[in-house]
Amino acid sequence: MKPIKLKINTRTQNYSIIIGSNLVSNISKIIKENSIDFKKCLLVVDKNISKQSVSEVKKSLNQKKLYVYNFNANEINKNFNSVNKILDVLLNKNFSREDCVISIGGGITGDISGFAACLFKRGLKFINIPTTLLSQVDSSIGGKTGVNTKYGKNLIGSFYQPNLVISDIQFLKTLPKREVICGYGEILKHSLIANKKFFNFLDKNSDKILKLSSPSIEKAIYESCNIKKSVVEKDEKEKNLRKILNFGHTFAHAYEASLGYSKKLNHGEAVILGMKSALSFSLKNNLLKKNDYNSIINHISRANLPSKIKNFFKIKDLNKILSFMIKDKKNNTDKINLVLLKRIGLPVINKTYKKNSLRVFLKNELRN
Ligand code: NAD
Ligand code: ZN
Repeated sequence: MKPIKLKINTRTQNYSIIIGSNLVSNISKIIKENSIDFKKCLLVVDKNISKQSVSEVKKSLNQKKLYVYNFNANEINKNFNSVNKILDVLLNKNFSREDCVISIGGGITGDISGFAACLFKRGLKFINIPTTLLSQVDSSIGGKTGVNTKYGKNLIGSFYQPNLVISDIQFLKTLPKREVICGYGEILKHSLIANKKFFNFLDKNSDKILKLSSPSIEKAIYESCNIKKSVVEKDEKEKNLRKILNFGHTFAHAYEASLGYSKKLNHGEAVILGMKSALSFSLKNNLLKKNDYNSIINHISRANLPSKIKNFFKIKDLNKILSFMIKDKKNNTDKINLVLLKRIGLPVINKTYKKNSLRVFLKNELRN
């Protein structure tokens, strides 16, 4: 299949996302075709990327002065210290603003590399090569970068758009099944907040997508990127519309945080549980119609996605979950702000609910 190109136009940067297979061996050509020029670059490489892919990238970039920083990607290492280490290499090797940082990894690697690129001399060139499904459909679009702190996830960061994104589905072949499901969770989210036709496509093709079969996987990545593109183009700095991308996320962040961001529940899995909670809450508050609710719930169960919060939590965890929901950075008062769904493709933002009504709701969810 021919690579697909999607152009993103934001106030600060216009750039392309290239989606295809076996792109990395041609990376030098792709960079040139997209009019990006630099002499030196630092590859920030996730340690789980296959040696072969890394050497293909290096081979293709052999005309450039290349440095490599190997990164052990996990939420604990997504911190200032890792950003500092990248900045240290850039300073030590005398990089200028005309040079480039290239991230090769998932959302964690992309977020810290983008943040370092933004900070270094107030910004040098940045190319993102996302290697997980989640990063290809979500985190590589929209320019959010950042790190975690002891106060919470992603609380420090910036908006910094890349110069180019290269999404090569070849990387996905080595991805653990759980990580594929995580990416699928964000794809499903995009369909629910924006496009019923796309949801129907997912409903028909979820098994092929989860098996990464072409051309279904490319189509799912493309449609998902397209939805995120149209949202971030309209609201780059999350003033309003962009909040719809947080569908399921206020619940999800609280679930992840309550389990200490452990491997028991990855972000994308938490998002699927969070969307399920947001859907039940939408139904109980008479926003969502029963037949739309049923279609989505049936989809989640047919695709074998995680769906029961009581497999992860007990009633005794309720206070912890609620306190994280209040602390979520998208909430600015004691009330909890939620993105809910009216029907497939039509989200509602700025609905606030008292902590107590959430307590009653979650207690019920944990019982049933
Ligand atoms: P990740 O970067 O941790 O990658 C998941 C796991 O897969 C890691 O163990 C990683 O080493 C491994 N991996 C990566 N590529 C691989 C490959 N090709 N083969 C085998 N293993 C591979 O996580 P993620 O799910 O990609 O991203 C989650 C992160 O993204 C979170 O920190 C989240 O906050 C962030 N995020 C950011 C945005 C944004 O807009 N910037 C949006 C959504 C999520
Ligand atoms: Zn997410």
